[in-house]
Amino acid sequence: MTTHEHDLVVIGAGPGGYVAAIRAAQLGLKVACVEQERELGGTCLRVGCIPSKALLESSERFAEAKHALASHGILVSGVQLDLETMLKRKEQVVMTLTRGVEALFKKNRITRYTGRGRIEGAGRVTVLAPDNTIELKARHIIVATGSQPAALRGVQPAGDRIGTSTEALSYREVPRHLVVIGAGYIGLELGSVWRRLGARVTVLEFLDRILFGMDGDIALEAKKLFEKQGLEFRLGARVVGAREEGGQCRVEIEGGEAIECDRVLVAVGRVPNTDNLGLENVGIERHKNGQIPVNAAFQTSAPGVYAIGDAIAGPMLAHKAEEEGVACVERIVTGHGHIDYDSIAGVVYTNPEIGSVGKTEEQLREAGIDYRKGSFPFRANGRARSLGQVEGLVKVLADSRTDRLLGVHIIGPHAGDLINEAAAAMAFRASSEDLARTCHVHPTLGEALREAAMAVTGKAIHF
Ligand code: FAD
Ligand code: AMP
Repeated sequence: MTTHEHDLVVIGAGPGGYVAAIRAAQLGLKVACVEQERELGGTCLRVGCIPSKALLESSERFAEAKHALASHGILVSGVQLDLETMLKRKEQVVMTLTRGVEALFKKNRITRYTGRGRIEGAGRVTVLAPDNTIELKARHIIVATGSQPAALRGVQPAGDRIGTSTEALSYREVPRHLVVIGAGYIGLELGSVWRRLGARVTVLEFLDRILFGMDGDIALEAKKLFEKQGLEFRLGARVVGAREEGGQCRVEIEGGEAIECDRVLVAVGRVPNTDNLGLENVGIERHKNGQIPVNAAFQTSAPGVYAIGDAIAGPMLAHKAEEEGVACVERIVTGHGHIDYDSIAGVVYTNPEIGSVGKTEEQLREAGIDYRKGSFPFRANGRARSLGQVEGLVKVLADSRTDRLLGVHIIGPHAGDLINEAAAAMAFRASSEDLARTCHVHPTLGEALREAAMAVTGKAIHF
């Protein structure tokens, strides 16, 4: 067995791992990154953020050509779906980006090992490839092994008939009837894609609301708008089983009811990839849900072993993983580096998009924090009118005593981009007045954010 020495070995090349590797190389470390897949980029680039956004974009163009262009005075006829090209385009986008990460590794002189990484002891990792095993030695090891779709008891996986988001990103035909189990962001994004392409889509959710964890008003508005697009929701419906026979699927709901369909997407959350990693070799005990416990410097209980991203607690988001990758490495090398978790936003890329940062109204009420609220509808915003996308609103929550921003929630056109301004404001500890007094370009969607901040003190101009 050959042995190679490095300063840092990163296990996993998703947004957490590859960003940590690059930052460490920039800071002068000799870095290795172990990835079991042929492509770099992890869940996010291969089967997550990027391919889903590519399909959301393409399916939105299709829906627009079919239903929305006429209102602009553009008449198109004979609009047809070429699913094969749509899927190829998605694969091309993914390939360009995964190759981009390869190029960044080369530029930063990061050594890449292809195979399964396993911790054998303090400072020792083996890379298990089908034809050989390599031993790596390093003072520091970062576990960035990410997550995978959670399974659901009673649901028997059956290829792309009963599958996860990975299968739903590559259906070779438009399902006739797709049943989505779970009304989280993954189920809603991929449900929207196939709905726009012509499938009947039924979303089964056992809670009495969709988008659990997001602001209640925004989730209600979202459900209303998604229903207008033809998504069917069954709330309070707990799935207890699903199986496939001869291409037909049967989904059983608690209480005895069953739904027949031709595709099932199980989207009930994700679980960390922390099995068979050799954690026990260095005495690391996992939380019950498989996450690796770490302190504020991302250190595990084993000296020299760190963990970041979906493998640890916190929102399972690519930018959160990236942020942790950078902070973890900066802590190792410089002794400084921290994350402001309160200003990490989340986005649902449906149409309209939903962007959210900070606390929801429900969380503020539960914590007993006195807050003031301002909201502004996109229908009163000039740019939204010109776009023809007037659905949705912005809601700003601020501390009633200090006026400090506590949360911003947006459902509407380009909410995913607008939310970055709110995140920056929160990171700088801005007040709602700071946002309200910042001159915003006219006509832009950002003016709706400003007006919602003005509405916190009842001073919105246009509503
Ligand atoms: P991952 O990206 O999961 O990467 C971990 C890597 O480690 C993988 O490549 C895996 O192969 C490798 N690995 C695991 N074990 C080993 C081992 N023992 N040896 C070697 N390699 C190993 N997040 C967003 O912020 N925005 C979005 O729009 C978004 N959309 C999503 C859409 C879908 C359909 C899905 C499924 C997820 C989406 N996410 C999104 C979530 C996002 O993909 C994850 O939060 C993010 O990828 C986590 O990064 P990570 O680096 O922690 O792990
Ligand atoms: P997320 O964790 O954001 O991906 O969302 C997953 C969603 O799936 C949550 O809203 C859960 O309530 C929902 N869910 C989990 N198990 C079931 C089940 N058996 N039947 C229906 N919905 C479920």
